[in-house]
Amino acid sequence: MLTNRQIFQAHLATPSVVHDPIEIVRAKGIYLYDNEGNEYIDLVSGVSVSNVGHLHPRVVEAVKNQLNDYMHLMVYGKFVQSPQVRLAELLTKQLPESLNSVFFVNSGSEAIEGALKLAKRLTGRAEMIGFKNAYHGGTMGALSMLGNEELKNAFRPLLPAIRFLDFNNTEQLLQITDKTACVLIEPVQAEAGIIIPEKNYLKALRARCNKTGTILIFDEIQMGFGRTGKLFAFQCFDVVPDILCLAKAMGGGMPIGAFISSAEKMKSLTFNPELGHITTFGGHPVSCAAALASLQVLLDEKLIEQAETKGQRYVDELIQHHAVENIRRIGLMLGIQVIKSIDINKLMKSIRKHRLIVDQFLFDNNAFRIAPPLTITDSEIDKTIELVYSALDESIQ
Ligand code: PLP
Repeated sequence: MLTNRQIFQAHLATPSVVHDPIEIVRAKGIYLYDNEGNEYIDLVSGVSVSNVGHLHPRVVEAVKNQLNDYMHLMVYGKFVQSPQVRLAELLTKQLPESLNSVFFVNSGSEAIEGALKLAKRLTGRAEMIGFKNAYHGGTMGALSMLGNEELKNAFRPLLPAIRFLDFNNTEQLLQITDKTACVLIEPVQAEAGIIIPEKNYLKALRARCNKTGTILIFDEIQMGFGRTGKLFAFQCFDVVPDILCLAKAMGGGMPIGAFISSAEKMKSLTFNPELGHITTFGGHPVSCAAALASLQVLLDEKLIEQAETKGQRYVDELIQHHAVENIRRIGLMLGIQVIKSIDINKLMKSIRKHRLIVDQFLFDNNAFRIAPPLTITDSEIDKTIELVYSALDESIQ
């Protein structure tokens, strides 16, 4: 009889070769458990998903309650469904008036697709601007906006009329003109290795978009829902986008995404032609119930406020290790840059041996990410720092 691991390797299509897959049988809080009884600490949150930890009891309860009422009823937008309504109500309460209309989808990529379509529809323009080393998802539109040639080339032709700017280069903002439909940007670049915008960069971008009538889209799919120390990343920089894209941590572990704009702007997907964007499962009631509970947990348990001190706790200790060159951080999201002589693959193996789950970045080969659930305690942080220290020691020998 084949083991699950053998079936995984024979019959599951995966985007990369996984040499030593772990079989997880259970997850709780910051912990993952494998089929051999080993306990791991999750320091990536399923790539910025489990901000409230795995199986948070309030999220589980909300899912169970919703399962007593209904699952999918009808394609998105035809019936009033209370989980969608309650979630949109609480979400928009946290947002400025210009972001008062939520279009629910199933994933981050879909949120990006919807946002790009909305921007084209609003402006009637074709040109779109993205950023080098940006990642926005795997669908054709999102892939077209990917700021990396190597990962894109095999799939050409992609969407035309896209330009890429260097993040943090204010002079290049002049390339945004009255021909530009939209600028799509992660307010903090994630897969580039946690690149923080310089002071006033996003304000200058906002001003340029205002001047040229260009729609400004923020991709907060990885940085939203408390990761940065604010509920939304744009709140760190005092700049409001025209369209906000969310997903990942939104569902508290269930799949859901959204693009959010003003009711006025969103109307252009409803009329002339109608059905400007359609989804069957977008805003699935079970996912919405989980997302509502997850958002309530973030707000009630003061997890967002703690992200800053918890993140700094990692920096204070890890920066002292001589294998660490620098650390880029916002809230509880860290990019740990190691010195060039470290073999990062060896380091990753060593970290795994200490039963920590971390991850590398798509576009920075000399760094790894630490972004645990926001529920991690100070003593758990200290324990993981010790383990990372041991792994760093070993990788230097
Ligand atoms: N945007 C960013 C910044 C992301 O990190 C990701 C996924 O990693 C996406 C978009 C795409 O989201 P999804 O994988 O849910 O389609």
